Amino acid sequence: KLLLEVKDLSAVITESKQSILKGVNLTMFEGEVHVVMGKNGSGKSTFAKVLVGHPDYEITGGSIIYKGQDLLEMAPEERALAGLFMSFQSPVEIPGVSNIDFLNMAYNARRRKLGLPELGPIEFYGYVAPKLELVNMKIDFLNRNVNEGFSGGEKKRNEILQLAVLGADLSILDEIDSGLDVDALRDVAKAVNGLQTPKNSVLMITHYLRLLEFIKPTYIHIMENGRIVKTGDISIAEILEREGYKSISGT
Ligand code: ADP
Ligand code: MG
Ligand code: MG
Repeated sequence: KLLLEVKDLSAVITESKQSILKGVNLTMFEGEVHVVMGKNGSGKSTFAKVLVGHPDYEITGGSIIYKGQDLLEMAPEERALAGLFMSFQSPVEIPGVSNIDFLNMAYNARRRKLGLPELGPIEFYGYVAPKLELVNMKIDFLNRNVNEGFSGGEKKRNEILQLAVLGADLSILDEIDSGLDVDALRDVAKAVNGLQTPKNSVLMITHYLRLLEFIKPTYIHIMENGRIVKTGDISIAEILEREGYKSISGT
């Protein structure tokens, strides 16, 4: 089933009107994993932020259909209600707030918006415990204070856990692999794989090839200068590995 259809999308920076996205086309079906790659500054993060309705960017052309609805007509809140989430890094350590309480709060905020009753600590524990396995984390991780002493890999896994807890239908992950050693990378990749089900889809943005050792995307897209200039299977990554971005330049 069609999930996301982006057509000729262009966007500028709201403040300066500088053009960043210059006609992006991308189609995703339910249950797929798509990876958007490209050089630094090619517009990958802008694309991700535009999908969730970030106010720094203004759409100047094109369309986005998400689950049959006109996404551009939806406020950021409505997009979240429709299951579209971008991972966010909890900005700071929160002394005295355990990770499970933090996740419970985030989940209850979502339940309230959906008009559903909140879950108390015990019910929430029952909900979150199986998801921990999905992201390859141990139960005691929940009792630690948010981000206090978390390693880079633990922080990233926590971002993915948030998406799993919130029940994202489309999870957007921007450079979830940056700054990780190879063991942490493997764990984070496992966690990303855990997000994917026949109903749940992942759009992953990365500058690096190494994540692809552990994640098998349905499609890889190469972004260059605000456009997707090539779409293909894993063989694109192999060309990239050998020859770099120049080899698949659209220009
Ligand atoms: P990528 O994620 O591929 O590295 P970005 O989408 O972050 O690329 O940025 C694309 C280009 O747009 C870069 O040149 C960046 O400096 C510029 N840019 C993006 N957002 C802003 C902003 N809010 N203000 C100023 N420049 C921006
Ligand atoms: Mg960048
Ligand atoms: Mg970026």
